[in-house]
Amino acid sequence: MVQQQPATQPEDSTRNENAPVILSIENMSVEYKTPSGWMQAVRNVTMDIRAGDAVALIGESGSGKSTLGFALLRMLPRTARISSGTAIYRDRNGKTYDLTEIDDKTFRRMRWREFSMVFQAAQNSLNPVLKVSDTFLETGRAHGMRSRHEIRQKALKLLQMVQLDPDRVYNSFPHELSGGMRQRVSIALALLLDPQLIILDEPTTALDIITQRAIIDVVKNLRDEFDFTMIFISHDLSLAAELADRVATMYAGEVVEYCNVRETFYNPHHPYTVGLLNAVPPIAGTDFTPLTAIPGATPNLLHIPSGCAFHPRCPYATDICVQEDPPLVLLEGTRNHLVACHHHDEVTKDPEVWEKMEVTAEAQTQAIG
Ligand code: ATP
Ligand code: SF4
Repeated sequence: MVQQQPATQPEDSTRNENAPVILSIENMSVEYKTPSGWMQAVRNVTMDIRAGDAVALIGESGSGKSTLGFALLRMLPRTARISSGTAIYRDRNGKTYDLTEIDDKTFRRMRWREFSMVFQAAQNSLNPVLKVSDTFLETGRAHGMRSRHEIRQKALKLLQMVQLDPDRVYNSFPHELSGGMRQRVSIALALLLDPQLIILDEPTTALDIITQRAIIDVVKNLRDEFDFTMIFISHDLSLAAELADRVATMYAGEVVEYCNVRETFYNPHHPYTVGLLNAVPPIAGTDFTPLTAIPGATPNLLHIPSGCAFHPRCPYATDICVQEDPPLVLLEGTRNHLVACHHHDEVTKDPEVWEKMEVTAEAQTQAIG
């Protein structure tokens, strides 16, 4: 099988390489308390995010993407704890804060103004008993916008930018709007206070395909206008291809590859990234190739395999993979392509890597009878 291509060709995005780092996550680990003990959902994640970057966190379900996003914005449930690490955020004045340590008051002051979050459409954050106008007014007033007129004008402008009928939507209750419209309102609301960083958790999940397309276009246009930094969580690689400058591939709570989007799609060095790409649908209109999936299952995070957690599923695994967890290292000759694999060189040189990392849907069906 040849390498699958995303529906939209990712551009070689190097525009932010010299921008300042606004979020530096270092060695961050997050655990959930379970009846069988603490379960490591995020493990020693280290990554820098530069101003203006759009970073996609990708990986199969349960790889820790949302937990990392929630940890950054203090939205973890009570059963979770950040067991190690720092997340140094740099505001527009150059002042730095460790998001894992700042007090609640400082955090509340920074939320919406410095960073905001957009959730899945199905878990929309709009208050069902408040009109959209009241939600904008409450949020604006709580964060320093004093004038009702100013908030209204800004809200109407943003609602127009997310391609809604501003006056009608501003005066509606959330239940009077479709899922896609509510998602656009949430995106507009997230931008009300001009935050520097927005985290989007599966922003197009639970929406039909046409609405997904519209939301992607909306986010692209807003970024062109406001140039905010964005982290978005998705298991949809075509979304990453369209929106991301950089892609962090997560497996079993770890970042196993982090590089420019074009590198992810055209020069992946981690077998798991290759496996994920095999699951991207081919371009519409070309010969149909069945979707594929990586053989095996994601590990139980209470019993993470020794060494490289991917070794039970990896055709390249050797003894060292079972013994030592490979560190995330900078690839020689690159400025920012990081990979955690003992055999990445062999993987990239192997002309059959794509075949090795696939199992066709047909074979899977046969395997499960
Ligand atoms: P998905 O794409 O399905 O949302 P994800 O990559 O975002 O997956 P997380 O939701 O962060 O992954 O989950 C990481 C691990 O933590 C999974 O094993 C999940 O079952 C577990 N987990 C998530 N939330 C909780 C919770 N509130 N309590 C206990 N375990 C949790
Ligand atoms: Fe596979 Fe070994 Fe690389 Fe892990 S370190 S991805 S097991 S080759």
